[in-house]
Amino acid sequence: MPAVDADAGRTIPERLVMAVEALEAVDPGDTYDPAVPSALVASGLQRLCLPVEAGGLGGGMVEAVSVLSTLGAISGSAALGFAMHTHVVGALGESEGWPTGLRSWVEQLVVVEHGLLNSAATEEGSGSPARGGLPATVATEVSGGFRLTGEKTWTTWLPALRAALVTASHTAGIATFVVDLESAGVERLPGFDALGMRGSASGRLRLAEVFVPADRLIGIRRPAEPDLRGPAPGAWFAAAIGAVYLGLGEGARRDVVRWAIERRPGDGRTAVADLPTIGVRLGRIDAALRTARLVLEDVAGRWAAADRTGRGALLADLTLAKLTATNAAVLATDEALRIAGGPGFLAGRLERAFRDARAGLINPPLDDIAYEGFARRLVGEERAKGLS
Ligand SMILES: Cc1cc2nc3c(=O)[nH]c(=O)nc-3n(C[C@H](O)[C@H](O)[C@H](O)COP(=O)(O)OP(=O)(O)OC[C@H]3O[C@@H](n4cnc5c(N)ncnc54)[C@H](O)[C@@H]3O)c2cc1C
Repeated sequence: MPAVDADAGRTIPERLVMAVEALEAVDPGDTYDPAVPSALVASGLQRLCLPVEAGGLGGGMVEAVSVLSTLGAISGSAALGFAMHTHVVGALGESEGWPTGLRSWVEQLVVVEHGLLNSAATEEGSGSPARGGLPATVATEVSGGFRLTGEKTWTTWLPALRAALVTASHTAGIATFVVDLESAGVERLPGFDALGMRGSASGRLRLAEVFVPADRLIGIRRPAEPDLRGPAPGAWFAAAIGAVYLGLGEGARRDVVRWAIERRPGDGRTAVADLPTIGVRLGRIDAALRTARLVLEDVAGRWAAADRTGRGALLADLTLAKLTATNAAVLATDEALRIAGGPGFLAGRLERAFRDARAGLINPPLDDIAYEGFARRLVGEERAKGLS
């Protein structure tokens, strides 16, 4: 990663314009291009969600949603990679439970070394950590710290990362560490041939007896206990993922409208965009995406305005926002291909967006977990009124 960062004084919107121009110039398509994370670091947006006092740009969840959805409309994979860094950094500033020294170390890593971060939680055997899977990665206590051994899968933007939040089983429970990926014993391996998000470099992080100093431990919790860091990590993850896929769907909407205006099959007298059946499909796309944007922006704004004690109550709405955004992206990219017919079926932006959108259904919180949570609340509220 080049140690280049845009000079101080630029506003967040100005930096976003820089990032968009750079991303459009790279046009990474289906492959991972290191020029993408470099361009985002050059815009300085890796500091977006750090407080100004710590050298950041002072952005919150509202700004993160705006940046990530704008990037998502250009490249789903690039936006997903950047979302992983953004949710970790955004949650850092709003979480309890971080040792002060460790928080400062991470902030400096981002500000001074222009480092990018992600959370490496998923493992092949244990499945989705969102469902409480126990890590097979093991943390053993040694003099001065821990040794970590195991393998994480689906670690997005793995080649570009400077550090990762890694979960590991410890005798006292599930421990979460900040692992410096330049440590001895760290190996970055390619991921899998996936349907979509092929440019996200979601790889396998192998850890072989990696020494992690004691002061890089965020905390240890028992498997059934909630995250010691409070609601912020889950909230930021839902918002960041929602924003990426909302943007991805909005990009497909823009692309298919442009295509439908240009395309005049047959005698050339009528643009596809003016056919009544196409209008209904474009309207469906638009309704789904505008609903998703309204929900996501509304809850991001309420999160930013709430104090720490009020934020836990917003998690259900953030889950709703992620669910609405990812499903809107799936609907929009599906309708876009129905509109574009044969030309849309050819390899290109619409076809890629269709594949990329599906990944949003796999990123937690998953639809069924969300629906079950909503149901539990409904039933609980009625029971609280005295029904047995
Ligand atoms: C593009 C992409 C990027 C990613 N990036 C990252 C990353 O950077 N870091 C990271 O840690 N992870 C990442 N992931 C991993 C992702 O978050 C999931 O955790 C991972 O895909 C494993 O979850 P799963 O549901 O696919 O698999 P499994 O947990 O094996 O589940 C398989 C199926 O069974 C269902 N299922 C499993 N358990 C239950 C249960 N108890 N009750 C009901 N149904 C169940 C699931 O819904 C699913 O349909 C990424 C995934 C993708 C696709």
